[in-house]
Amino acid sequence: MWKSTNNQALRERALKVIPGGMYGHESTGMLPPDFPQYFERAEGTRLWDVDGNCYIDYMCAFGPNLLGYGHAGVAEAAARQAALGDTMTGPSAAMVELAELFVGMVSHADWAMFCKNGTDATSMAMVCTRAHHNKRKILVAHGTYHGAAPWCTPNPAGITAEDRSHIIGFRYDDLDSLEQAVAQAGNDLAGIFATPFRHEVFADQFLPSPEYAHRVRAICDERDALLVVDEVRSGFRLARDCSWAALGVQPDLSCWGKAIANGHALSALLGSEKARAAAQRIYVTGSFWFQAVPMAAAVATLRELRDGDYLERITHTGQLLRDGLAAQAATHGFALRQTGPVQMPQILFEDDPDMRMGYAWTSSAIRRGVYLHPYHNMFLNAALTPADVALTLEVTDQAFAELKHQRPTLAPQANPKVLARLQSMAAAQPTRLAA
Ligand code: PMP
Repeated sequence: MWKSTNNQALRERALKVIPGGMYGHESTGMLPPDFPQYFERAEGTRLWDVDGNCYIDYMCAFGPNLLGYGHAGVAEAAARQAALGDTMTGPSAAMVELAELFVGMVSHADWAMFCKNGTDATSMAMVCTRAHHNKRKILVAHGTYHGAAPWCTPNPAGITAEDRSHIIGFRYDDLDSLEQAVAQAGNDLAGIFATPFRHEVFADQFLPSPEYAHRVRAICDERDALLVVDEVRSGFRLARDCSWAALGVQPDLSCWGKAIANGHALSALLGSEKARAAAQRIYVTGSFWFQAVPMAAAVATLRELRDGDYLERITHTGQLLRDGLAAQAATHGFALRQTGPVQMPQILFEDDPDMRMGYAWTSSAIRRGVYLHPYHNMFLNAALTPADVALTLEVTDQAFAELKHQRPTLAPQANPKVLARLQSMAAAQPTRLAA
C-alpha cells in the first residue's frame, strides 16, 4: 500500500529549517503533492522513498544515473579509490587517465578540465570564450537552462541587469533571431552557447535543423568566437561523442556533467586546440574539484560507455516505452506528445494548457510505483529491462484508465509557480514551434 507519512513529516520539518522547504529545481509545489521529496536508497533502475515505496525511476537523478544506480564496476572502482584517498592535497593519477579517455572518445576534444557541477562547467566555458580574444558578448537561447549562476539562472531574484549586461538572447533554431543577436554583438562576440537539442521544461523537445547548427559554427568561425555545446544534460545519452558530431558540427568547447561518473559528483569542460590558450589563462578551481573517487568512478564509467552496449539498450527500451505509451494513449482516447530522443523522453498531453492532465496522470503512476515526470524530460538508464518497461506499461494503462474517469472533473492547475513557468516557457519557444 503506497503511503507518504514519513515524507510528509520530513516536509513539515524542512519548512522550519530549509528556506521554502526546498529550493531550485526541487522547489516545493512544482510537482503534484503525491510525489515524494525524500529517498532512502536506489539500485539499478529502482528508487525507494523514505516510506518504503519502490519506484521504477524514469528521472535517473535528473540524468546522473546512466548505467544503473550502484553499477557494480563503477562502485568497485570508487570503493577501491575511497580506501586509498579521496579529497587530498592534489588529484590522483585518475585525473590524467580520465582526460585521456575523454579526448579519445569526444572527437572535437584535445583537452579536459574537471569540476563538480554542470554550472561550473558552463561558467568556465563562458569565461573561456571571453578570455579567448578579450571579447564580451555571449549568445544564449531564450529559455535554455545552462545552470544556476548569475549569468544564466532562470530566476531573476538577486540578479542585477549588470550581471547579464553582456548576455544576448535569441530564439533557439531560429536563423533570423540568431543573425539579429550576432549583429547586436558586433565586434564584441565572444561565444555562442547551444544545447545539442531543445530540451526545456514544459515544452516539446526537438533537434535543431542542420542548417542552424552549421550556421552557428560558421558565425563563430567568421567572427573568431567560440562555439560551446552544453552536453551537461544529454551527454552520452545520444552518442559516445559530442552529439553535434552527428550533424557534422564540432564545437570549440563542450560542457559535461551528470552522467559522466554515473552519479558521482563530477563535471568537465572539454576543448579543442583552438581554445587551449584561453583555458590556460582563466582562473578556475574548487576545494573538492580534484577528488579522486569521482574521477576513478568516471574512468570506470567511460570505459563501460566506450566498450559496452548501454546506448543500444537504452535506445531499445526507450522505443518500447514510446511505442507502448502511444498505443495505450490511443486506446484510451488521449493524444500524447512524446518528443525528443527515446532515451530522454518528454511526455506532454495535447490540449493540456494548464497541465492538469499531465499532473493527474503522473500522480496516478507514482502511487502505483512508476516515477514519471509531468513537465521535465526524463532519462533512461541501462539497468532498465524490457520486463521493467512491461511493468511500467501495466501501470500507465491503469493511470490512463483512471485519468479517463477523472477527466471531466479535474480541477484546473492553480499553482502560481507552475503557471508562471508555463507562461515563461511559452514566451521562449522558437518561432517554428509557436507558429
Ligand atoms: N546545463 C544543462 C543543459 C543542464 O540541464 C544543467 C542541469 N540540469 C546544467 C547545465 C547545470 O548542471 P548542474 O545542475 O549540475 O549545475
